[in-house]
Amino acid sequence: QGAISFKDVHFSYDPARPILKGISFDVPAGKTVAVVGPSGAGKSTLSRLLYRFYDIQSGSVSVDGQDIRTVTQKTLRASIGMVPQDTVLFNDTVSYNIRYGRPSASDAEVKAAAEIAQIAHFIDLLPEGFDTKVGERGLKLSGGEKQRVAIARTVLKAPPILILDEATSALDTTTERDIQTALDVVSKNRTTLVIAHRLSTVIGADEIIVLKSGEIAERGTHTALLQKN
Ligand code: ADP
Ligand code: ADP
Repeated sequence: QGAISFKDVHFSYDPARPILKGISFDVPAGKTVAVVGPSGAGKSTLSRLLYRFYDIQSGSVSVDGQDIRTVTQKTLRASIGMVPQDTVLFNDTVSYNIRYGRPSASDAEVKAAAEIAQIAHFIDLLPEGFDTKVGERGLKLSGGEKQRVAIARTVLKAPPILILDEATSALDTTTERDIQTALDVVSKNRTTLVIAHRLSTVIGADEIIVLKSGEIAERGTHTALLQKN
């Protein structure tokens, strides 16, 4: 479920400067495709088009064979879990932030999601610690802890599609490895589009697409790409 298809997608923020120049690739249901490439190549633009931050200008993006322009943004986003580079949290408890993934979830379900992301010990606390009414109950979450909140939210939402947009790139190496392990659990058996800067962080992907200046420069498995270069 959740098969994604990009077909001849062109996109520019400014008509004078094309960013995506005819991108076609599929993410088969349950598989993981990673898009890597230098900064500015257009990787995040791809993920933003899939999440419909922007409208597709030419070509098409479809999910399970349905053009995403034919469904409402709300319906589309209900089927997608997005873990961005830097998660911005609401100034409310961590459990509130997790429950945002599925407001109807029970306390037990929120707790279970928090346990998977290994943050069950602070779900009743505030993420930034600046609520004077709550005072000492506040805490300041690190970048890695915020990513864990985003992961717990996605676990609770349990969407068929996952977008990981440089989800570990802002973290130090040890934390990155830790969060990667948690993300591997979440993305298992889910259709996953990973945006990454480096090839070394997407070893497990079923296919890797190397994007350069808005074009697919190379594609293949991690092993095949390493052998060629
Ligand atoms: P990547 O994720 O590969 O680093 P992006 O998709 O974020 O690349 O950006 C591709 C190009 O589009 C970059 O040159 C960037 O400066 C430009 N760009 C990104 N977002 C916007 C925007 N909102 N308005 C104008 N230009 C943008
Ligand atoms: P690191 O060991 O630092 O992770 P990588 O092997 O991931 O290094 O690659 C560093 C840079 O080279 C990245 O910007 C990546 O996108 C690019 N790169 C890596 N492998 C390829 C490849 N097969 N084809 C094109 N670019 C590549």
